[in-house]
Amino acid sequence: MKNPFDLTGKTAVVTGANTGLGRSIAVALAEAGAGIVAVGRSAMDETERLCREAGVAFHAVQADLSSLEPIERTVAEAVAGGGRIDILVNNAGIIRRADAIDFSEKDWDDVMNVNLKSTFFLTQAAARTMLADGLGGKIINIASLLSFQGGIRIPSYTASKSGLAGLTRLLACEWAAKGINVNAIAPGYFVTNNTEALRDDPKRSSEILGRIPAGRWGDPGDLGGAAVFLASAAADYVHGIVLPVDGGWLAR
Ligand code: NAP
Repeated sequence: MKNPFDLTGKTAVVTGANTGLGRSIAVALAEAGAGIVAVGRSAMDETERLCREAGVAFHAVQADLSSLEPIERTVAEAVAGGGRIDILVNNAGIIRRADAIDFSEKDWDDVMNVNLKSTFFLTQAAARTMLADGLGGKIINIASLLSFQGGIRIPSYTASKSGLAGLTRLLACEWAAKGINVNAIAPGYFVTNNTEALRDDPKRSSEILGRIPAGRWGDPGDLGGAAVFLASAAADYVHGIVLPVDGGWLAR
């Protein structure tokens, strides 16, 4: 029987692939057989090493996604490097922490620009290529528990990730019949740069850990299987979901 999770011959574009969850997703997709186009503003050396170890093609595209400036070039370079875009993982994201009462316009705009605006327009540009050759594709947005919950001290992050869940559903409705699957993954609390401030705060850290049924923070490697699933033929009839990978947090 053919392995429904096999990504051999596919090309996956992963944003923010130099570290954390993005790197882990890129490596998981590579291990499932996909060639990787890693998009971001920092060096991709370690991701490249791990993907090449998995035996797949690797291309890096230098792009700062805080503005729309690199969007068209990123898609053109991804297509030139990888042949076509079969899979797009919108992983790049930032967070800013301050009480809502003090939150600045800059911390609002910076987060919304990377997490929502660039994500939408990169998705639009990639989807145009998927629709142009009629072969469709898989789009995976990295959402958050803040796509479901409010949280505290991260107003622009919660707005962006709640917005991303809505956008995932809208795009799924528009493109499902055109062969593009749009879905999202909502990671729980994972050990990456994104959660460093929380893990450094003993009170917040123990409160969070105490609520996770699995009894531990997520390791970036815990996310790969969900990404491979949503990127693969196994998910051909899956549209518009936000899949929690959270150690049971939302079940609590
Ligand atoms: P991370 O280690 O901080 O990674 C964030 C990634 O986004 C990095 O590769 C970063 O690149 C990239 N990025 C940020 N701004 C960018 C820009 N302007 N242009 C291009 N790339 C940019 O944190 P992470 O936890 O792996 O985060 C990955 C995604 O998962 C984010 O969308 C985050 O919101 C989401 N998430 C994380 C958790 C968690 O518990 N860790 C939970 C839910 C959702 P640089 O290294 O160059 O800054």
